[in-house]
Amino acid sequence: MSKLLFWAGIILVALIVMRLLARHSAARHRRARATPRRPVPKRMQSMVQCAHCGLHLPSSDAIHRDGRTWCSQEHAKAGARISP
Ligand SMILES: [Zn+2]
Repeated sequence: MSKLLFWAGIILVALIVMRLLARHSAARHRRARATPRRPVPKRMQSMVQCAHCGLHLPSSDAIHRDGRTWCSQEHAKAGARISP
């Protein structure tokens, strides 16, 4: 009987140690992930103007073609109406 209790205690301690180690490594992981590598917010990006309709939009959302920027494929095809 005492042998059974001994092994039960060993297993219990092993489980507790494993859980503590897992939590420790998870916390380290979280801290590593917390280091900032945030994407640039939309409003911090440079704004460009559609050469057709004059709409202002973020540079990443615009279509770049023929050295101009457009709000949509349709306006890129339609061509420029506004001089740069
Ligand atoms: Zn447009």
